[in-house]
Amino acid sequence: MHVGSGTVFSFHYLLKDAEGVELESTRNGEPHAVLYGRRQILPALETALAGKEAGETLTVTLPPDKAYGVRDDEARARVPIKHLQNRPARLQPGMMVQVNTREGIRNATVIKVGRFNVDADTNHPYAGKTITFDVEVTDVRRATREEMAHGHAHGAGGHHH
Ligand code: ZN
Repeated sequence: MHVGSGTVFSFHYLLKDAEGVELESTRNGEPHAVLYGRRQILPALETALAGKEAGETLTVTLPPDKAYGVRDDEARARVPIKHLQNRPARLQPGMMVQVNTREGIRNATVIKVGRFNVDADTNHPYAGKTITFDVEVTDVRRATREEMAHGHAHGAGGHHH
């Protein structure tokens, strides 16, 4: 079976920046399981995976505009500390935090910590980076009716209810 419409595919990946520094990897856990075509991964990565079978490996390099966007120097916000999710006991510049916004939870990087607010950079942490995925497709199967209805993959590496 090939990755495409109506399938759930699983894959291990190692994500590197342009200098070869590892940013993320699934190798210490379950492969990532995705219902095809539901924008659960970067569209350009999914396009590169279309038509692949279990056991195939590939390397996909994506410029910022196909990955996590270009950096926006204006993307800064002053956020009340009480709006941070799972906030650490001691906030420090450079820390990643999660901000509760009207559009949902967004990742941000702390620039400056005040008494009641933090100044945060709301660019995606990988914004502006050209990134490379080393991917191994581990499984491709037909999606269940339930998965199609929910819009995500179930089971190992997917969604758990
Ligand atoms: Zn579900």
